[in-house]
Amino acid sequence: MTDRLKGRIALVTGASRGIGYQIAKQMAAEGAHVIALSRTVGGLEELDDEIKSAGGTATLVPLDLTDMAGIDRLGGAIKERWGKLDVMVANAGLLGVLSPIGHIEAKTFEQTMTVNVTATWRLIRSVDPLLRESDAGRALVMSSGAAHSAKAFWGLYAATKAACEAMVRSWANETMNLPLRVNAVNPGATRTRMRAIAMPGEDPKTLPTAREVAAKIVPLAFDDVTETGKIYDVREGRFLTYQNPS
Ligand code: NAP
Repeated sequence: MTDRLKGRIALVTGASRGIGYQIAKQMAAEGAHVIALSRTVGGLEELDDEIKSAGGTATLVPLDLTDMAGIDRLGGAIKERWGKLDVMVANAGLLGVLSPIGHIEAKTFEQTMTVNVTATWRLIRSVDPLLRESDAGRALVMSSGAAHSAKAFWGLYAATKAACEAMVRSWANETMNLPLRVNAVNPGATRTRMRAIAMPGEDPKTLPTAREVAAKIVPLAFDDVTETGKIYDVREGRFLTYQNPS
């Protein structure tokens, strides 16, 4: 580790397990003070213990992202305590259900849209003014190859990730002349609980670990990143450019 995030304030959602846990841990090891958010307190406490024992610091935020007023309050609390935010990683997400699009229960559709899309927007709205206060604001929104693959039965999850990418692209164009850099990330298939639920027949040992994947995502928050409005493909190890019709 190189202290590349020394003194930075980094908010990571979905930090109780999987990719988000590892991003939070590795950002703390790079010197960031990590604000770690999820519902499961046990996972956050385990993360806090690991961060502390490596000499880092974290603030734990047990919050259900369906609590939109809670997301607003979080922005207010960060403003009060630090006056700015340097890094936002909108990583929390749900798979929803793999199903023919016409068979999805309304409740499942709405819950998945709420966590993956509405909460991501609400978080952006809550922290955008704080990221603008940073001299090197970095926003990363977790997407998926599913957003573009049009795979049968993945329509709900794909729609949520496509919506996130659309927000990222517009937000990046709105902030292009600021130090703030805004990108989506496709981590690729990763050995986590979500992937095991999506692909129960797959041998998890064939997949990269969350730790390995996070190590490729963390540098996207460093000061020297210049790209904005793009998707970083972890497997390919590069930013992809959207086709911009104009
Ligand atoms: P995971 O292991 O299932 O972890 C998901 C995280 O999101 C957990 O920390 C969970 O915490 C949090 N979360 C879910 N619902 C929440 C809510 N209502 N409020 C607050 N936090 C909530 O998933 P993962 O595989 O690490 O995925 C991380 C991101 O990468 C997701 O956006 C996913 O779509 C994306 N992705 C993953 C893969 C893959 O192969 N794993 C591939 C492409 C994209 P709590 O349950 O404690 O709240």
